[in-house]
Amino acid sequence: MPTDYNKLCKFQIKVTMNYYTKHWWFLSSSNLQHNDHPPVWIKAQLGGEHDLSAEQMKFITQLYQHSVAPSTISDIMTKMVGKEFSLDFTSNLGRKVTETIDTANGITADMSSAQKTLECLRL
Ligand SMILES: [Zn+2]
Repeated sequence: MPTDYNKLCKFQIKVTMNYYTKHWWFLSSSNLQHNDHPPVWIKAQLGGEHDLSAEQMKFITQLYQHSVAPSTISDIMTKMVGKEFSLDFTSNLGRKVTETIDTANGITADMSSAQKTLECLRL
């Protein structure tokens, strides 16, 4: 089968090592552009914050507030959005959401858990 070289991906990383310093250098003659790859199946892509609508974010915030496990939240988001949400992403988002809720409730990270409880009871 003849190969059409114009349709081959031109991606190429060129590196060189300085013999004396043993440092590796990335050459500017490298080509970091890919071309003519088949599109990645949407479900094989990792989901991110930009995939979530404001309504979905509100819903996820509710799940965190009700102490739903991050692994369960990952599953729910994957089913809602149709992209894979990693447990890392979900856990980070959970931390962010919790911090935002805490800030809104006047709770800061340097407070003891007793102070946090008092601050929650005051609301
Ligand atoms: Zn490529």
